[in-house]
Amino acid sequence: MVQFDQDFENGSLGQVTRLGPDWYHVGLRPDTWYWTHFRVRGCRGREITFALTYLPHPHSNRWGVNETGNPEDPDYGCRSPYVSYDRTYWMHVDSAEKIASMPNTVQFTHRFEENEAYLCYTIPYTYSDLLSYLETIQDHPLIAVEMIGKTREGRDIPMVSVADDGAEKETIMIISREDGDEPTSNVALEGMIGRLTAGDDAIRAMLERTRFRIVPMVAVDSVVGGSPYGGRYYMAREWFRDPPLPEIKAVKDVVADCFRNSTVRLMGKLHGGQTYDNRPIWDFRVFDLRLRKLIPKTTPRPLDPVWNCVLRDAVPWVRKLTIFESFLQQTYDFWPFFSTHTNGRDPENLRAGGVRFADLLARYVQQ
Ligand SMILES: [Zn+2]
Repeated sequence: MVQFDQDFENGSLGQVTRLGPDWYHVGLRPDTWYWTHFRVRGCRGREITFALTYLPHPHSNRWGVNETGNPEDPDYGCRSPYVSYDRTYWMHVDSAEKIASMPNTVQFTHRFEENEAYLCYTIPYTYSDLLSYLETIQDHPLIAVEMIGKTREGRDIPMVSVADDGAEKETIMIISREDGDEPTSNVALEGMIGRLTAGDDAIRAMLERTRFRIVPMVAVDSVVGGSPYGGRYYMAREWFRDPPLPEIKAVKDVVADCFRNSTVRLMGKLHGGQTYDNRPIWDFRVFDLRLRKLIPKTTPRPLDPVWNCVLRDAVPWVRKLTIFESFLQQTYDFWPFFSTHTNGRDPENLRAGGVRFADLLARYVQQ
């Protein structure tokens, strides 16, 4: 008997319906229109087909389905989810396609070699993954890891500082993972931090005058609970909520400390993508004029296989929204900020993108 559950960190599974022998419909939880992360047990030696019905959502096509508008010429292509037996090594399932007989449904099939397996929309990056990573870097002489507060559910919120000594100087502050379903940003940060701690002359020159403060996972509870965005709050848009959410308050306290004790050079945030298999393009929304000069307005053709940054229009929304940038602008009249979506083909590519991003910042600081 095959069993399904979501009772593990980052799990997310709605109702499961058996449609036939080794054929199951996988329901989504009501807090998502596309995301799933579930465990199957009792699957060794079986080829199991999973049908998943997503909710169509404007401006986002998370399963990558393409409606041709012509029933005689259908396109069955869709995104292929990932499977893992150990939650460390992830691979695509054997096959995935849109299914014509069920609306808004993708169907994927996998032959299982182990009795217990995890399936996820993408390669997850959990809170435990972050804590394990922080353990590997915390003894580095340039790095300090501290907890800046507790989440609503009582978990520690980590912050990574990278600086070459204790002297106060310029600060670059970066926050990440305000949205639980955007794991690529955490992998990109690993690449960036790795570059900061083992960089070339330009990186070393940057660290002589600039310290980094990095909050790698703002929406910790959402990541643990397997909920997209910020879980029960849309955390990225809660920067004016009063009283503040504990996660937002913890970050605001760090921001205040940065302004009190240093010259703040740049602040920014890393968001999405929701999954891998994307082109390695980071789209930057930038108010800082000097940083804008370093980022091209169009993507190169052909694309650089490792990393491409491109400038997107940044102006109108910051005044209306209640996002990190709006808070910085209204509270501190601070404009040198950026946001970007971290995209790449796979975790290795995202790490390489993070290295390039660190090099971009080194060029920025040199100006
Ligand atoms: Zn986001």
